[in-house]
Amino acid sequence: MRGHRPKHSEMSTEARRRATARAYVNVYQRRGRLIQQPCEVCGSPESEKHHDDYTKPLVVRWRCRRHHLDVHHT
Ligand SMILES: [Zn+2]
Ligand SMILES: [Zn+2]
Repeated sequence: MRGHRPKHSEMSTEARRRATARAYVNVYQRRGRLIQQPCEVCGSPESEKHHDDYTKPLVVRWRCRRHHLDVHHT
């Protein structure tokens, strides 16, 4: 648990957009509208959601930890 959590108003527009997109898609997933898929690169079931475009919160790619990091470093 961290002491300081930034308030929404303290976040940059970009950070806020990211947080909103993640919250949105998490609700969707909890409701069963979005089903977890294996990593699209290696097929690992330990996949995470990745957004190509945070203005489209429901468009996600499934990537394992490693390939998720790859996509952010290329
Ligand atoms: Zn992978
Ligand atoms: Zn990502």
